[in-house]
Amino acid sequence: MDYKIKKVAVIGAGVMGSGIAAHLANVGIPSYLLDIVPKELTEEETRRGLALDDPLVRNRFAIRGKEQLLKSKPALLYVPENADLITPGNVEDHFNVLSEVDWIIEVVVENLAVKQQLFEKIEQVWKPGILVSSNTSGVSINRMSEGRSSEFRQHFLGTHFFNPVRYMKLLEVIPCSETKPELVNFMVDFGQRVLGKGVVVCKDTVNFIANRIGTYGLMVTVQEMVKNGLSIDDIDAITGPAMGRPKSATFRTLDIVGLDTFVHVANNVYDNVTDPQEKETFVVPQFMKEMVQRGWLGEKTKQGFYKKE
Ligand code: NAD
Repeated sequence: MDYKIKKVAVIGAGVMGSGIAAHLANVGIPSYLLDIVPKELTEEETRRGLALDDPLVRNRFAIRGKEQLLKSKPALLYVPENADLITPGNVEDHFNVLSEVDWIIEVVVENLAVKQQLFEKIEQVWKPGILVSSNTSGVSINRMSEGRSSEFRQHFLGTHFFNPVRYMKLLEVIPCSETKPELVNFMVDFGQRVLGKGVVVCKDTVNFIANRIGTYGLMVTVQEMVKNGLSIDDIDAITGPAMGRPKSATFRTLDIVGLDTFVHVANNVYDNVTDPQEKETFVVPQFMKEMVQRGWLGEKTKQGFYKKE
């Protein structure tokens, strides 16, 4: 079958969904960028005394301003007119657009049950042949598509972009047990040729490849910091440019990723690995859980390990 991507629906307009829509716009592909509308506050938001119309809450459900999406540096690569290629909206009002696009990308919260429920709903409007993928950091692609028809699963796969989407070259492509081989080949070619990524096809193992290593490295770094009485500044000073990495060192990276997302990712590994010693490595430290409870999620709430003005 000959696949063509002329229009995309990105579901989830958070850190990654907005980055993916902006990247697509930058290569000239229009997209719908859909999210849920807040009806109530989460427990931690209530504790923090936020209100539904508070900018911090609105930001969580960001149907972000189009210009905002394209603002990241360096500006030269983004053409402001490309913002017109993104149509933001409320997912409930726009659910029927899912049958008119060529590719649906799920980019909602890292939670198996939420993703499974969404795919169940998507299948109800899905037009056979449309590509459907998940941007999960490491939840099983096979489990996510459990209960879906064989035809749906033949068109389903993981497309794992990295953050920030614009700068990170890697795209992991993860077939489920029924994904058509020609769809995998198409995505590899499309990812390289059109999206400008370096594509690696991965098996559906916990956290795939890059995150399995990356999350492990982060957890060990944090544990060593606590054990050796080092500070966050010490770690970032050492694990940044001093080691030949870009300025985003350990904790700055976590602020960009989002503490809530990182905790979901670490919990997913904890729940799915069997080796007790390995499991131990993925126990989320108490201070990180407390940060999430306080709503210190990183750049998206303007407060994480660092404060963002
Ligand atoms: P985020 O919290 O910034 O955004 C998630 C968005 O999904 C929120 O705006 C939320 O309102 C929305 N949402 C939740 N349920 C929804 C539903 N049923 N329908 C529509 N929208 C819904 O999270 P994120 O960092 O963008 O992560 C999204 C996905 O991408 C996760 O699976 C995550 O693991 C993965 N990922 C994240 C990173 C990262 O660095 N943050 C990197 C790669 C992959």
